[in-house]
Amino acid sequence: MFSLNGKTALVTGGTRGIGRAIVLELAAAGADVAFTYARSAEAAEEIKKQVEAIGQKALAYQADAADAARADEVITDIVKEWAHLDILVNNAGITKDTLIMRMSESQWDDVITTNLKSVFNYSKSSVRPFMKARAGSIINISSVVGLSGNAGQTNYAASKAGIIGFSKSLAKELASRNIRVNTIAPGYITTEMTGQLSDKVMDAIKASIPMGKAGDVKDIAAGVIFLASDASRYITGETIRIDGGMAM
Ligand code: NAP
Repeated sequence: MFSLNGKTALVTGGTRGIGRAIVLELAAAGADVAFTYARSAEAAEEIKKQVEAIGQKALAYQADAADAARADEVITDIVKEWAHLDILVNNAGITKDTLIMRMSESQWDDVITTNLKSVFNYSKSSVRPFMKARAGSIINISSVVGLSGNAGQTNYAASKAGIIGFSKSLAKELASRNIRVNTIAPGYITTEMTGQLSDKVMDAIKASIPMGKAGDVKDIAAGVIFLASDASRYITGETIRIDGGMAM
């Protein structure tokens, strides 16, 4: 039921952290996996080799997630190479945290375009192949910050809350075509993104998690496999928190 044999997937931001784990777990579940990245060309080559070592095909694309024309090029190329696209994971994301009094217009715009416009870009370009196949699964990576808010993250929280509203709307548009759209809201997961936080902040965050510890990137990848597979075939428009109880 959780097998992705014969399926193809695209993951945005697949070179580090959660995206990298998603790429490798999709491959382990039997999918051929394409992924994008912004700067990490060396890491991209390494991950491509790891996917191939698992026995699946891999494609890597340098593509700024905020660039709509590039998103279209990437998806057109995947369909040319592999004839179909079955799964899209919108994962690429950044933070530019500061209190609103200090937040510049570019800090606001960068986070909104990288985190939210990117989801529009890749979802819009994927709909054509999904419609043709009368099937597809879009999985958008939001955050518990999009549900609860967080001081110092107005830009990030707006982008992540936007993803949830976008996903529910698109789920309603596409449900009759057997295309599902769901969201995962991770809590505090150990990656380079959270590695920038001080020990004091990290201890305070851990104290706010009922399960008392940070999550692992594999915890998020497991949710993606579920939402990508037939095990979740009657689920659309849902937001699943994977957060050790942090935002309940
Ligand atoms: P990360 O370790 O910083 O990795 C970010 C990934 O996104 C990298 O592969 C990076 O590529 C790519 N990326 C960044 N900007 C991009 C752009 N403009 N175009 C294309 N790719 C871009 O982040 P992470 O912690 O794994 O987070 C992944 C997602 O989960 C994000 O959407 C984040 O908001 C969300 N999330 C994370 C946590 C957490 O606790 N870590 C919690 C909630 C939600 P390069 O390597 O080339 O830079």
